[in-house]
Amino acid sequence: MGLKQIRQRGDDILGKKAKLVAEITPKILDLLDDMKQTLEANDGVGIAAPQVGILRRIALVSHDDQFYEMVNPEIIEREGEQLCNEACLSVPNLCGDIMRPFKVVIKATNRHGEEYTVTGEEQMASILCHELDHLDGVLFIDSATNIRPLDEEELRERKRYRRKRINS
Ligand SMILES: [Zn+2]
Repeated sequence: MGLKQIRQRGDDILGKKAKLVAEITPKILDLLDDMKQTLEANDGVGIAAPQVGILRRIALVSHDDQFYEMVNPEIIEREGEQLCNEACLSVPNLCGDIMRPFKVVIKATNRHGEEYTVTGEEQMASILCHELDHLDGVLFIDSATNIRPLDEEELRERKRYRRKRINS
């Protein structure tokens, strides 16, 4: 158990489709714990199993007091659209704009094997879509426009945001 190394853009595994989790085993529970630790250590809002080198359909999202462990997540509803500014732990120091639904509803299984749904709007919808894309081997940068370095101000903004989340 412990921190995992984040795979970086250019690593083949990030382009592969992850496999469904057939059963929540102790190994999957360990993976969920490791991913949470890795997400927190990297100040991220989301992480998907392929980013730590595991091709399983698992993603974690931590945003605005909300934390979700999603096993086998799938989008069951999408509504509207919005242009989102995104960045990624696997694509360091770059951000870009990408079209996402304004609202999504995700169906997933939690660590106890229970099915639940998550509804996300605005930034939450963008984070959810971004993480689910990782499970299909898709990086935001593959279709983003206006790709640019994360400047000081954006980095500060992201950090401030995370502090708010951590403190709340
Ligand atoms: Zn990402």
